[in-house]
Amino acid sequence: MDSRVISLVRTTFKAVLATDDGPGRLTSSFYAILFTDYPGARDFFPAAMETQRDRLVKALAYVVDRLEDPDNLLPFLAQLGKDHRKYGAQKAHYIAVGGSLIKALRNFAGTEIWTEEVDAAWQDAIGVIASTMLGAAANESDPPVWGGTVVEHREILRNLAIVRLQLNQPMHYEAGQYVSVQIPSRPRMWRYLSPANPANENGEIEFHIRGVSSGWVSPSIVGHTQVGDQWLLGSPLGSLGVAGSNDRDMLMIGCGTGIAPLRAQVLEMSHRRSNPRVHVFVGGHHPCDLYDLEMLWQLSLTNPWLTVTPVVENDENPWWHPEVPDFSAPGMHRKITGQIGRVVAGLGAWSDRDIQIAGSPSMVQTTKFRLMAGGTPTKNIRHDPLY
Ligand SMILES: Cc1cc2nc3c(=O)[nH]c(=O)nc-3n(C[C@H](O)[C@H](O)[C@H](O)COP(=O)(O)OP(=O)(O)OC[C@H]3O[C@@H](n4cnc5c(N)ncnc54)[C@H](O)[C@@H]3O)c2cc1C
Repeated sequence: MDSRVISLVRTTFKAVLATDDGPGRLTSSFYAILFTDYPGARDFFPAAMETQRDRLVKALAYVVDRLEDPDNLLPFLAQLGKDHRKYGAQKAHYIAVGGSLIKALRNFAGTEIWTEEVDAAWQDAIGVIASTMLGAAANESDPPVWGGTVVEHREILRNLAIVRLQLNQPMHYEAGQYVSVQIPSRPRMWRYLSPANPANENGEIEFHIRGVSSGWVSPSIVGHTQVGDQWLLGSPLGSLGVAGSNDRDMLMIGCGTGIAPLRAQVLEMSHRRSNPRVHVFVGGHHPCDLYDLEMLWQLSLTNPWLTVTPVVENDENPWWHPEVPDFSAPGMHRKITGQIGRVVAGLGAWSDRDIQIAGSPSMVQTTKFRLMAGGTPTKNIRHDPLY
C-alpha cells in the first residue's frame, strides 16, 4: 500500500468516527448491510451483538493505525486469518464483509469525502487485509480449532477462577500469546484468554479468568464452569514472547489476570540455561489480588535473573477477604503501595529494557502513558491489542 492510499484510508476512517456517535452508527450500519445482503452471515455472530459491535471498531482502528507498519501489521493479520478458520471463513465471507464495510463507510462519509480515489484506496486496503488473512489460513497445517476438557476449576477469589483444560491435541503457542475461547453455555461468544503456562506436549493448558461485572462470558466461566465441560480454542495470537538469552533485559508489568501471559513466559525462561535479567511488577487493588505472587516469588528464589516486586493500591484487603500474601517471606522484594504505572515510572525511564504491560485496557493505557511521560521510548513498550 502506498502512502497516498494509507493517508486516504486513515483520513476517511477518522472523519467517520468523529461524527456524532460515529463508531456506534458505523457498526450498526455495517451489520445491517451485511445481514441484509448476506443473510447467511448472521449465523457466524452471537444473538447478543453489543460487545461484538464495540470490537469491530476497535479491531479496525488497530489495523488502520498500523497501515504504515507492515512488519507488525502483516504478521498480525496472518494470525487473525489462521484464527478465523474456526468460523469456517471462506473467500466469499471476506468479500461480503469487505463490501459491506465499504458500503457503510460510504453512507456515512457522504459524496464530498467519498471520492473515486477514496473508494479505490479502501478497496486496495481491504484487498490487502483479506488476501493476507486468506493466504495465511490456506498455508496453516495446525487444526482450525482445538477441543479442551475442563479438568479443574478453582475459584480462588470472589470473582477470579483458575481453569485447567486437557486439549485433544497439543497446541504449539509461544509463551505470552493468547487464544480465543468458546465455552458451551455461550455459543459463538468467543473471548480471548492468555494461557498462564507454556505450551507442552501433554496438551495441558491453564487460564486465569476474572469475572467482569455485566460481562456475558467471564462471570459464567468463574461461577458455573464444571469439570468435564468441553471448550473450543482457536489458533494462538499475539506477539508477546520471551527474550533470547542475549536480548535486552526485560521489565514486565502485570495486574490481575494480566499476570497470566507474563507468568507463562517466566516459567518458560526458567527452563533455559541463561536469560536476560527480568523484573516483574505484580499489581492489584488489594493484597488479595496478588493471587499468584507466591509462585512467582518461589521462582525468583531459584532463578537469580528474576526479580519480583509486589505493588498494591490499598494496603488492606476488602473486609470479606481475610487472606493476604506473606509479604515478609524470605527474599521477597519490598511491597510498594501506589498505582502501578506511577510506581514503576517513578523508579526511572527503564530505557534500556524491553517492556511488556498486561492487564485491563485502562491499566495498560495508564501505565504506558506514565512510562512515556517519564521518558521511556514508545518502541520499547509492548502489549496485546486492547479490544
Ligand atoms: C489479548 C487479550 C487477552 C486476554 N486475556 C485474558 C485472560 O487471560 N483472563 C481474563 O480474565 N480476561 C482476559 N481478556 C479479557 C477477555 O477476553 C474478556 O474481554 C473479558 O473476560 C470480558 O468478557 P465478558 O464476555 O465477560 O464481557 P463482555 O460481555 O465482552 O463485556 C461486558 C462489558 O465489560 C467491559 N469489559 C470487558 N473486559 C473488561 C475488562 N478487562 N475490564 C473492564 N471492563 C471490561 C466491556 O467493555 C463491556 O462494556 C483478554 C483480552 C484480550 C484482548
